[in-house]
Amino acid sequence: MTTELPVGDELLALLTTDMTGLTRGRWIAASSPDKTVLKGCGWVPANLALTPFDVIAENPWGSSGDLRLKPDLATRFRVSTLPETTALNGVLCDITNLDGTPWHGCGRSFLKAALADLERETGLTVTAAFEQEFQIREPEWEQAPSFSLAALRRADPFAPLLMAALREAGVEPEMVLAEYGRDQFELVCGPSDAVTAADRAVLIREITREVGRCCGLNTTFVPKLTPDGVGNGLHIHFSFRDKDGTPVTYDPARPGRVSEATGHFVAGVMRHMPALVALTAPSAVSYQRLKPHHWSAAYTAFGALNREASVRICPVPEGQGVDIAKAFNLEYRAADNTASPYWALGMIVRAGLEGLRHKLPQPPLVGMDPASLSESEREKLGLHRLPASLPEALAAFSADETVSGWLHPDVRRSYLSVKQKELDLVEGLIDAEICSRYASVY
Ligand code: GLU
Ligand code: MG
Repeated sequence: MTTELPVGDELLALLTTDMTGLTRGRWIAASSPDKTVLKGCGWVPANLALTPFDVIAENPWGSSGDLRLKPDLATRFRVSTLPETTALNGVLCDITNLDGTPWHGCGRSFLKAALADLERETGLTVTAAFEQEFQIREPEWEQAPSFSLAALRRADPFAPLLMAALREAGVEPEMVLAEYGRDQFELVCGPSDAVTAADRAVLIREITREVGRCCGLNTTFVPKLTPDGVGNGLHIHFSFRDKDGTPVTYDPARPGRVSEATGHFVAGVMRHMPALVALTAPSAVSYQRLKPHHWSAAYTAFGALNREASVRICPVPEGQGVDIAKAFNLEYRAADNTASPYWALGMIVRAGLEGLRHKLPQPPLVGMDPASLSESEREKLGLHRLPASLPEALAAFSADETVSGWLHPDVRRSYLSVKQKELDLVEGLIDAEICSRYASVY
C-alpha cells in the first residue's frame, strides 16, 4: 500500500473559522474520485473549546455529540500560482447538526441569522469590507521608512504575489500598502455582501500566511507585535441598502451626513461596545492595542475623519464623479485579527439592530482624540473608556445581558471558559512575552 499522493497532486480543504479567529478543517485528496465529502464531513462540538494555544478548555460537550462541516460550494477557491508549492484548494463550510440545521456554535450561521433578522425587521441589507493590517517578522531587516516604496520592495515578490493569489481566489483585493509600523502592511478589500466580506477576511489571513511561507517570510496578524510598536487592526467597514438595493447610509441633511437609520444603528453599537469587544478584540494581547493615542479605539466615540473614533465615518472623494451615496460607509475600529470575522460582524449587526428597534439617538460627533478631553467633557459627550483588559471585557460582556444573550448558553459557557483558559495560559508573562506568544499563533 502506498500512502504517497501522485506527484503534483493537491489537497482540498474543508474549512471553518472558530471563535478564536483560527481557521481549522479537514482535507481530502483533490483528485479523489469520492467527492461525496463535499456534501459534508464530521466535526466535533468540543473543537469550539480549543484555545489558541491548543489546550482545550472545559466545555459543555466533552466527548459527546457530533456535527457536520457543510461546504458552501459558492466559496470554493484555488490558488495555483505560488512558486514551489501545491495549489491551495479549499471551500468554506458552515457547521450543522446531523439533520442539516445550523449549529449554534457556527459563526457563519450566527452572522447569517443576524443579517436575516436585520433585513426582516428593517428591510436593510449590509454591504461590508474588512481592512486588515499585519506585519512581517524579519528581525534582521533594517528599518525601512513608513509607507515607502522601499518597505514594499524589500519584501518583493511578496506583495504582487499576494495580490495575484487573492485575485485568483476570487477575493477582489483593492490595494496593498506598506503601513506606518515596522514592516507593517495592510490589505484593503473591495465591498461585498456581509457574509462574503467575512469569508474574504478569512481568505486574506490564510493566503497572506501562505504567500509569506512561499517567500520565506514570517507574517503575523497579531494585534501588537511589540508593546511599544504599532497595532495591527481589523477595520470593519459597513453600509446599508434598502429592499431595492438603493444605498441608504448617506443623508446630506443630517449630522455627519448619516441617515436616520444609520444613526440608530451606530447608537446601538456604541451602547453595547464595551461588551462587544469581548468578541471583536477577544484576546489578552488585544488590549495592548486598544489604548488611547493608538489610532485604534479606546473610547465609545463616533467621529468623522477621526482615527481615534471607535466608529468612524469614512471619507469619500467629492466632485470627482464618485456616487457619494454609494461609496459612503462607516468603519468599526475596535476589532483585531484574533477575532472571528463572522462573530465580530454578527455581533455588530445585532447591536445595531437593537439601536434601530429602540430608535436610539445618534451619538454626538467627536472630532478629536477623546483622550485629549477632560473627564467632564467626555461625560458630557457620553464617551466611555472601553475595557482596558480581556478580563474587563469579559466582565462587561457577562454584565450586558442583551449581548451575552445573543449566544446560545452552551456557546456562551464554552467561550467564557476558553477565554479564561487563554488568560491562565499567559498568566505571569510580561507584555512583550504575551505579544510573542500570540504572534506565534496569529
Ligand atoms: N494601526 C492602527 C490600528 O491598530 C490603524 C491605523 C489606520 O488608521 O490605518 O488600528
Ligand atoms: Mg491602516
